[in-house]
Amino acid sequence: MSSDSPIIIVGTGHAGLSVAETLRRKGYEGEVRLIGEEPGLPYQRPPLSKQYLKGEWDESRLEQRNSGFFEKNRIDLVCGKAVTDIDPASRCLRLDDGSEVSWARLVLATGSRVRRLGVPGAEAKGVHYLQTRADADALKKAKENVRSVIVVGGGYIGLEGAAAFAQAGIKVTLLNRGTQLLSRSTSTPVSDYFYRLHHAQGVNIEFNTEVVSVNVVEGQAVGVTLDDGRSLRADLILVGIGVEPNTALAERAGLRCVDGVAVDGACRTSVSGILAAGDCTAFTHPLYGDTPIHLESIQNAVEQGRIAAATLVGEEVSYDAVPWFWSDQYQDKLQIAGLARGHDLEVIRGDDKGARFSVFCYAQRKLVAVESVNAPSDHMLSRRLLKQGISPTPDEAADLSFSLRDMLA
Ligand code: NAP
Repeated sequence: MSSDSPIIIVGTGHAGLSVAETLRRKGYEGEVRLIGEEPGLPYQRPPLSKQYLKGEWDESRLEQRNSGFFEKNRIDLVCGKAVTDIDPASRCLRLDDGSEVSWARLVLATGSRVRRLGVPGAEAKGVHYLQTRADADALKKAKENVRSVIVVGGGYIGLEGAAAFAQAGIKVTLLNRGTQLLSRSTSTPVSDYFYRLHHAQGVNIEFNTEVVSVNVVEGQAVGVTLDDGRSLRADLILVGIGVEPNTALAERAGLRCVDGVAVDGACRTSVSGILAAGDCTAFTHPLYGDTPIHLESIQNAVEQGRIAAATLVGEEVSYDAVPWFWSDQYQDKLQIAGLARGHDLEVIRGDDKGARFSVFCYAQRKLVAVESVNAPSDHMLSRRLLKQGISPTPDEAADLSFSLRDMLA
């Protein structure tokens, strides 16, 4: 075994696959093994709460690469096996079948896990989550036989799930803990837009509401009780209350973790020979100061996967990609460039009461994020503006006749 091989990647999600593919694209010739807990070929997650849940895509369209790809690229794909422990001293890891695997370099791409609803009754049949293909399959099947759904959480899963149910003619009640939808990720005008959109589609949205218990009859969830004492009935409950980074393996192995596995701009962890990429990481980003950020996005997973692979083949790299996100609900598309955390000014470009606009978010007069509703060209231009560190003035941003494109280098 050469000193740089094998490279073992833990996690077959977007980040893990990106590491493996990039290693081969960069000409790495050593052994590459991709180990994942889920059965089957690596698949795309974003369509699970969109086209797949709605029945517009079948399972084969979810596959990221076919089995021939792994053979051709000599990527040893090990599915349906969980890594239970890693030992940095002996450079060995253990699988749940008791076998051991040696590594020269290791990449943790362990992703995140859903936050569970921690109230009485929440483990009953009929309470669903939506993160994996198996979750989506269970939800799709259940969806065929239900007339009413309660969605807990007004984030991406909650809203995309609500849209899929409402479009199928199912009565939806969405329970939001705070006063705003998508509160963690979008500005008020965008949250308000999506409230109006769902309301117009017949979704009943309740704000400032928390579930205190799931009502269960003969093992089956039949509704929820709220903190104001009311009981609501439903045939199915979908919970989308966020995710937490999977850091248990890293923590047990002594890697530094703070709201994620701590990595530098080259995806190196605090332990030599171990890298990490994707949802499981936390890192400082040159565009966002000294406070570590943790990103839950496909863009970040793929990009960090590429960075980790570049580091593994000896390139000098540092992560500086502008974060971006998107969400599809009904016929509408939300696209976000940058991170709006801590912004102090929102400027609207277009008509936020209409069907197409963008919100430019500033912190101390510097552009930090742009949220676009059905405005893909604003989104693409904003990504380039943010990358180049260019801030239109608030007046320029608000002026539809002002060309953002002309500002670009
Ligand atoms: P999310 O977008 O973080 O939203 C979580 C929501 O749940 C927030 O509105 C939060 O409200 C609420 N919440 C948290 N704890 C709660 C509790 N105990 N009771 C009631 N509400 C609670 O997370 P998600 O929608 O579950 O999505 C999970 C992951 O999938 C995220 O990483 C997300 O980025 C990803 N995803 C992304 C997309 C996309 O980008 N299009 C689509 C689907 C999934 P507070 O604000 O009050 O905490």
